[in-house]
Amino acid sequence: MSESQQIKVVDAFDLDDELRSLLKPGEMVRDAQGRRKRLPRYFYEIPTHDSAKQIRLAPHFGLNEFILVDLKEAQRLQQFPRYIPCAVRLLAFFLEQFRSAAGASVHVAVNGGYRSPSHKMSGSASSHMWGTAADIYRIGSNIVKTKELIDKYNDLAEELSDDVTILPYGHDTGTSVDDHVHIDLGYVTVIPREISEDRMEVPQESRPRFAFEERRRRDRRAAQTAAAAAENK
Ligand SMILES: [Zn+2]
Repeated sequence: MSESQQIKVVDAFDLDDELRSLLKPGEMVRDAQGRRKRLPRYFYEIPTHDSAKQIRLAPHFGLNEFILVDLKEAQRLQQFPRYIPCAVRLLAFFLEQFRSAAGASVHVAVNGGYRSPSHKMSGSASSHMWGTAADIYRIGSNIVKTKELIDKYNDLAEELSDDVTILPYGHDTGTSVDDHVHIDLGYVTVIPREISEDRMEVPQESRPRFAFEERRRRDRRAAQTAAAAAENK
């Protein structure tokens, strides 16, 4: 097993000043209805572009697919190591189910995965800032920009679970969509089991708070055991 498949989890309060000011861990933002939401605090740290491509969050979804951004994202957040809220794995799981239901490959748009609170498209709280929403612009060979296709795939997405919400077809940015399907799990934050939570919402310079996510599936554990055995030879 290559080292890059070990995903490092960090407490964003321990990142440097610039990163903290851009990721805003634990800060409150209001949604379009004025309800307050607390931004995520625990992030996967992705060291390189190669590791982003190698790390699979679900059988058909690599981590790299959720960090596609353009110049609308803060410049520092376009550089590696990059950070993405740990809840993105749940999103990948639902997209995998969605892919099965659609019977075709599912493509996340640029700026359609994680968008930091400093991203130019981040206004009021949106699930993209939690890593729990994806904008799908193409399914199989279909570019999703007609009412017929958006209605069809919205129905499929909503049938997956009551936890999934979508935006209806329409031309009002923010409340409807006309060139993608917005699949949304809501404001879900994940505290990885390997992390020890700290009630201090300040940097802990003397004591870095991070962990490496353990492989849970049996095949991955087996690979890890084999790698460890090889190292010990
Ligand atoms: Zn969206």
